[in-house]
Amino acid sequence: MTYSFPKPKDVTKEPEIIRYPDGPRGRQVINMATEAGRKEYRYRTWLMWQRQAGRCCLEGFIPQCPGKLPWEEASFEHEAIRGMGGAFRDDRIELPNGQWINGASHIVCNALRGSRRMTFNGVRTPYSAPEEGDL
Ligand SMILES: [Zn+2]
Repeated sequence: MTYSFPKPKDVTKEPEIIRYPDGPRGRQVINMATEAGRKEYRYRTWLMWQRQAGRCCLEGFIPQCPGKLPWEEASFEHEAIRGMGGAFRDDRIELPNGQWINGASHIVCNALRGSRRMTFNGVRTPYSAPEEGDL
């Protein structure tokens, strides 16, 4: 007997990397307990770091932020910080309509931000490309 891809036995063996608590088009929560999950999380941080042109997403929000963000210091910054452990956590970096969510920040800025809510992406979308100095 042959199976078309994906083989059911392989799918059920794989640990869940991304959970969709609100359905397939809703929030995504990456399973950090798996190596594949941690890789995905780091990859998304890298994508955000790229789209921010190597600048911290909290630049202008955190007075101490130097702006320029070396990749080694980049961390995944959640806009909805209060939900990190629970009902509002969202590890997506873009909404279905293309709007950016979350960002890459200095680990230090992340700590300085604390639990304050900051909508640092505003209403920016890929169709309103940031100006130089805008990030
Ligand atoms: Zn920063």
